[in-house]
Amino acid sequence: MSARHHQVPRALLYSSTHSALAIVAWCLYEALQYRNAHGGQEPARARRCWVAERLGVSERTLDRARTELLTDHGGGPFLTRRLRGRNRSALHTVLHRPQETRRRYAAVPAWALARVRAGEAATADGHVCPETFRTWVVLCDKLDPDGHDLTLAKLGQWLSCSPTTARRRLRALEAAGWVRVHRRGNGFWMHVQAVVEEGLIAALPQDHNHSSDDGEEVSGCPAPSDHSPVPDVASLPLPQTSGPHVPDLTPPYETPSKEPPSEDPSAKNPFPLAVGGAQHRKDASRNALTRERQINDEPPPAPAVTRPRGGPSVMTALPLEWQLRMSQSERERVLAAIDDELAQGRTIAQLTARVRRRLTVWSGTRPRRAVAAALTVVERGYHCPHPMCEEHLLPSGHPCEACAAIGATMNRQRQLSSASSDAEEPPANSARRHAAEPRDHVRARREFPPQACTRVDADGPDGPAARARALLTSTSPGFAAADRRRHRAPASVAGATG
Ligand SMILES: [Zn+2]
Repeated sequence: MSARHHQVPRALLYSSTHSALAIVAWCLYEALQYRNAHGGQEPARARRCWVAERLGVSERTLDRARTELLTDHGGGPFLTRRLRGRNRSALHTVLHRPQETRRRYAAVPAWALARVRAGEAATADGHVCPETFRTWVVLCDKLDPDGHDLTLAKLGQWLSCSPTTARRRLRALEAAGWVRVHRRGNGFWMHVQAVVEEGLIAALPQDHNHSSDDGEEVSGCPAPSDHSPVPDVASLPLPQTSGPHVPDLTPPYETPSKEPPSEDPSAKNPFPLAVGGAQHRKDASRNALTRERQINDEPPPAPAVTRPRGGPSVMTALPLEWQLRMSQSERERVLAAIDDELAQGRTIAQLTARVRRRLTVWSGTRPRRAVAAALTVVERGYHCPHPMCEEHLLPSGHPCEACAAIGATMNRQRQLSSASSDAEEPPANSARRHAAEPRDHVRARREFPPQACTRVDADGPDGPAARARALLTSTSPGFAAADRRRHRAPASVAGATG
């Protein structure tokens, strides 16, 4: 485990539109993903409150950071999320993983990510805040393993900040023991070395894997003697040479060839830097749970609540063409709406009948947005206090009195408003335009009168249920995974997918 690294894409690390917290959140979600049996990546399952607590921020702050990742700032978003089930639990999948894109990345040891916290906890026990962490990753990316001569101005240029800010962050890193700084005599140049060697990780307590960020386990981060005489970067112009860490400037490094440093993210790096990633993926697949628990310090999340079985069944009553035009998230939205309706006391057959009945209106019409039309067809769509009222009819066949009362009230209000609007002479052109240009679906209804709904064998092997299920399985990985879980028969579904 000592050789495990996270790979941070340089496009994200040096992005001017992403905060340091967003980078840490990306790393955390990437670490929470694991490889499934099919070789793909399972999305990260972590509650928002847990991630926020883990990073030491409020949930709103975490939301802002995730919004930065979810937004396309030009190169595409760095994170996707998918809502699942009735409790709308979110599954996050990171994008631009260097293991898949083969783009350049900065390597971050796993122990470092476990010590990033915002707020007051950042200063305790070798923890750093996200901004300082980003500085350190940039230093690891830019510096030679045995250090580098640079000025604060150069550091600020790397970090896109002022030299003063660069000095503050370097001082925080030095206080935490994550870098060693040796000032040169002229007061402007300094020799900076990022502490990434294996020996430091080996100095951590052995149970670091299972007790992550309690605060008491971090005694081994730097040598404790490095802490007490905190050398002050603020006194940079003074050529001070004190500090017990000055003599051991060049400890033996074991992996200088694995992560060759570079000067610039876009230039002068002849190595594609992809070998290390392929290596560390091996153990990730072997013990995914261990890896998750290492960051998690919690029992693995409970198995997700599976959707009641009716959702996909009702979904098959929708036209295939609509389903094809819907995105994965839109399908999830419709499925959630179906679940909501089923939860309000409808059976699958009743809901399917409602969908078929309302689809006659759409016969021969292509809706502009398939998801909107599907939601219109699925949801009851009007407010009636009677739970079993369906199309203003009760199951007994009698008209719903509540709907009748509501209708009477609305008619009265409409008469009143029309009387008042007649009095104040509305602009005639808008009314004329509405009369002249009926809306699309009205016109289509005139051209294609609704036909009677033909009965189909919904459960037959060639019926709509089977066809739509096969379509959903082949087009939506999320549906396929959910279906597989529901049926506990991976072989048959995998055969249908292939
Ligand atoms: Zn009613």
